[in-house]
Amino acid sequence: MNEVKAPVVTGGCQCGKVRYALYVKPENAHVCHCRMCQRATGGLFAALAGAPKAAFAWTAGEPGIYASSNLATRAYCRDCGTPLSFSYDLPDARFYVTIGSMDDPELAPIEKQFGIESRLSWVKFCDDAPAEKTGEDPKAATFFATMRINQSS
Ligand SMILES: [Zn+2]
Ligand SMILES: [Zn+2]
Repeated sequence: MNEVKAPVVTGGCQCGKVRYALYVKPENAHVCHCRMCQRATGGLFAALAGAPKAAFAWTAGEPGIYASSNLATRAYCRDCGTPLSFSYDLPDARFYVTIGSMDDPELAPIEKQFGIESRLSWVKFCDDAPAEKTGEDPKAATFFATMRINQSS
């Protein structure tokens, strides 16, 4: 008999056509203040929490996918526009969902801030969470050096 995995987290878009499940507790819950995350969400920052790619599944509908750079894609609902995910095109990278699209966002308290170089001066948010600039982590420098951004400005 096939083992049926039980979702730990479920979520989806505003209109309900696109749904997803995480089969582990959300990992590395963070906000990213970078300009791409601001533009992609239309918000002041993206709030994301992840799971290993094998522990994530779309469970209803088919999202639109936008390659915001040559290194990463973002999924959204084609009908209602809800930003749903962010993931780097690396096999071992986590698949991130937007915390606000989770059915229970309380499950993913923010642990870290990324893209701090673009944090808006008047955003006072999770100030005690450790903060990092984009590409600051030396392990990621080579990866980011190859990035070509598709954002218009
Ligand atoms: Zn929708
Ligand atoms: Zn970002």
